[in-house]
Amino acid sequence: MCGIVGYIGTQQAAPLIVSGLKRLEYRGYDSAGVCIISDSGARIEKKAGRVADLEKYVDISSMTGTVGVGHTRWATHGVPNDVNAHPHTDQSGSIALVHNGIIENYLTIKKKLLNAGYTFRSETDSEVLAVFIGMLYETLQDMELAVRTALSEVEGTFGLVVLSTHEPDMIIAARRGSPLILGIGNGEYLVASDAAAVISHTRQVVYLNENEMAILRRDGFSTKTIENVDTRSVVEEISFELEQIEKGGFEHFMLKEIFEQPTTFHDGFRGRLQIDAGTVKLGGLASVADKLRAAKRIIITACGTSWHAGLVGEYLIEHLARVPVEVEYASEFRYRNPIIHSDDIVIAISQSGETADTLAAIREAKLKGATVIGMVNVVGSTIARETDAGVYLHAGPEIGVASTKAFTSQLCVLTQFALYLGRMRSLSSEQGREVALGLANIPAQIRSILDRSEEIRSIALEYANVSNFLYLGRGYNFPAALEGALKLKEISYIHAEGYPAAEMKHGPIALIDAELPVVFIAPKDEIYDKILSNIEEVRARSGKVIVIADEDDTHIHTVANHVIRVPRTLPMLAPILASIPLQLLAYYIAVERGCNVDMPRNLAKSVTVE
Ligand code: GLU
Repeated sequence: MCGIVGYIGTQQAAPLIVSGLKRLEYRGYDSAGVCIISDSGARIEKKAGRVADLEKYVDISSMTGTVGVGHTRWATHGVPNDVNAHPHTDQSGSIALVHNGIIENYLTIKKKLLNAGYTFRSETDSEVLAVFIGMLYETLQDMELAVRTALSEVEGTFGLVVLSTHEPDMIIAARRGSPLILGIGNGEYLVASDAAAVISHTRQVVYLNENEMAILRRDGFSTKTIENVDTRSVVEEISFELEQIEKGGFEHFMLKEIFEQPTTFHDGFRGRLQIDAGTVKLGGLASVADKLRAAKRIIITACGTSWHAGLVGEYLIEHLARVPVEVEYASEFRYRNPIIHSDDIVIAISQSGETADTLAAIREAKLKGATVIGMVNVVGSTIARETDAGVYLHAGPEIGVASTKAFTSQLCVLTQFALYLGRMRSLSSEQGREVALGLANIPAQIRSILDRSEEIRSIALEYANVSNFLYLGRGYNFPAALEGALKLKEISYIHAEGYPAAEMKHGPIALIDAELPVVFIAPKDEIYDKILSNIEEVRARSGKVIVIADEDDTHIHTVANHVIRVPRTLPMLAPILASIPLQLLAYYIAVERGCNVDMPRNLAKSVTVE
């Protein structure tokens, strides 16, 4: 994870790096640090905590110089303290390095260096790399060569930026497994973990490829592979606006993103949905249309919230297209030597498009000959580039660590994918039109739920001090229950579990007492009566019942402590509408508990480590 910002140009680097780090803080927020290279050498300041803590500790404007790098950490090796914070230096203190990722063979390298008399200050894998580069420089006397040589021995993942007083007018960046982009300004260059840190300086960016290095100098930049083969870099334009990564008057990014969903959902089908024909046009899949038509099986692979979207996708695709679907945690899929046939379609779902486990899973699937489709939000991300075809979510930048709008956009895209595939097979235009119309109505329906956010807030206040929550749903709403529970866990630190409602009697029912709130998702679909029985089972044991129900359900209030009403939609679209109150419930509970909802403890937005 972690955020990296490097700068070389004519302006003072430190304030610029710090403001970039603030925009990347959602990627990691254990500690922050900056290194500035100037005539007086390398000055490093670093501190455990947030970027704001670093600013309190040091007057950033006193760090003068026009070349520098900064880092916000998401610790993998070593506790988040001042010493383990990045940048790290070599033994001489003249080479500084920031690192995103994990050096897997760091212990082997560390042992060799210790035997050779080198010493270490931190517990990190990253410092080992810095010291290793320093040792190589002693003999090679060439920074680029030293970095390249070190990287050829390193196993694991890295997004790396190296500075040195030996060659002060140069920044070296390299990536394997962790994203890095270059910002191409006017007489100035930036390197960052994502576009959010460069957009206030330039919209022109180069996405660094796997195993690629960049050498940034004051008068230009070059890219090459780590093996020293020149590469051609393509300058692309950032596709979002600065306002999209700002809070725009909301107290938190998460709340802003929840409220953006009428628009982001609409953006997910705009120009794609063809209501009259009851179908959908997905240009990004045109090149694999024949493969999709012939597919015998679809495997969806993802992590976290995206995995929940994948579960809804399974129901949607099997329902509309009658193709068998399996949904796999990417982290399991990649290591269990999955059986994959060349006529399988593997769909990777990821907000960031950088999720390390998902990326590894698609590489495995490609190796075994499957056609791989990406459903990602971040344009130009690694998964977007490494898949055979794909559909972007178009949700805009999602900064809040707990995913909200990306989840509903994933459901938007998965519904369209199922419709697209269905219409290639046996789905009639009439059936297709029903789904398309249902989707088209969703933005206004989300808006009407958001209009009632105060009601949801007042329910949240009643339950902010409980220790456990249970979320139950059936059919399409079982994954929605899982996602509701995950949202609450992530941001409020209340233990919550999601279950298929009928499974409750096989175990979780033992938890129910007068202290336990149980959230049911109970739209009036064909299993409504069954879920009413599950509600009674909870009531019989004095559990508190909160139900997300249809707005015209006249019975539900008689069996529930609280009812959150949502508009009627097709059963297959119900999890989209249900997820809005579930997000708001989690949000208001977390705020009431005083939690940092945008940056929950231990989490980070873009999970680029295994
Ligand atoms: N593995 C490194 C560390 O623990 C880098 C972690 C990161 O990506 O922030 O310091």
